[in-house]
Amino acid sequence: MRIDPDPKYDFDDVLIRPKRSEAPSRSAIILEREHRFLNSGTTWRGVPIVASNMDTVGSLTMAQALAPGMLTCLHKYYPAERLVEFFQNDPAAASVFYTLGLSDDEFDRMVAVHRQVPLRLICVDAANGYTKYFVDRVKRIRQAVGQATIMAGNVATPEMVQELLISGAADIVKIGIGSGSVCTTRLKAAVGYPQLSAIIECADAAHGLRGHVCADGGCRMAGDVVKAFAAGADFVMLGSMLAGHDECEGEWVEENGQRVGMKFYGMSSRVALDKYAGGRKDYRACEGKEVVVPSKGPVSETLQDITGGIRSACAYVGAASLKDLSKCTTFVLCNRTHNTVYGA
Ligand code: 5GP
Repeated sequence: MRIDPDPKYDFDDVLIRPKRSEAPSRSAIILEREHRFLNSGTTWRGVPIVASNMDTVGSLTMAQALAPGMLTCLHKYYPAERLVEFFQNDPAAASVFYTLGLSDDEFDRMVAVHRQVPLRLICVDAANGYTKYFVDRVKRIRQAVGQATIMAGNVATPEMVQELLISGAADIVKIGIGSGSVCTTRLKAAVGYPQLSAIIECADAAHGLRGHVCADGGCRMAGDVVKAFAAGADFVMLGSMLAGHDECEGEWVEENGQRVGMKFYGMSSRVALDKYAGGRKDYRACEGKEVVVPSKGPVSETLQDITGGIRSACAYVGAASLKDLSKCTTFVLCNRTHNTVYGA
């Protein structure tokens, strides 16, 4: 056993220091980024916000609402025929990830879909991206889909980012262990990594290889999305912030015939395991919980709140574009009294 003595930080531990600025007006700040991916040789352009592949959030309707500028990782529970139809016919599909986990069934299904309609964006999602099996699976997916852009995760430390970019041939590595709003991994397994530090350290490792990272989990408000980008994230994935919108596929909670909330749960929660995996296996703990998020109306309003926050941050630190935000950022430590334990 050893203890790493370096302090690690979560979003709550920092603020961004304002700086003298000659940045243009907020409206002129450029939020679009252009990312070129080395392993696939593809290029993507847009505002790098991604809807999570959770079953309530990563819906086809969400994908249509976020397209063409922003991205969606579809959840993996749609029938294959429905996905083929969507990818064949919907222009939104250019900004939509097909998601799969690690089972052979899911691999075979992806290959079958890819044969019918070549997939451009693929998200390989595992709770624990640290296994050799995971890296091998990403490699095998790369061999099967050739030029598709592959996002794979989750991990939270640089050596695994490097491994996935080099051996697994991923384009984007998804960062976040134990940081999700409905995740209880930190409580059940005591495993995790404060998300701001995870992003800073993993982005540094990825960028050294001209790879990319997507910060996944822990954003509860626009300011957290700003901090994730300022820390070096190339993409930011959102679950709870996008939950509760009209575009979600959820079970709504009503009062007097009015929608007041939506059930939102971790994909490893008992609710999700009962729904999709035939219940919890004897040897596993549920590492997710269920909450009710308020009903929030159309997602466009929340997206505007987020992009407004990013513009404002850029103006405060003198960044003419989202691309420059990280370079222009100095974080200040503040109110550090405890480590945030998400899921508590
Ligand atoms: P949020 O934006 O809600 O804070 O976090 C969303 C992320 O939480 C998802 O994209 C996924 O990586 C993670 N997540 C979703 N469900 C679970 C779960 O049941 N357990 C764990 N450990 N993480 C989850």
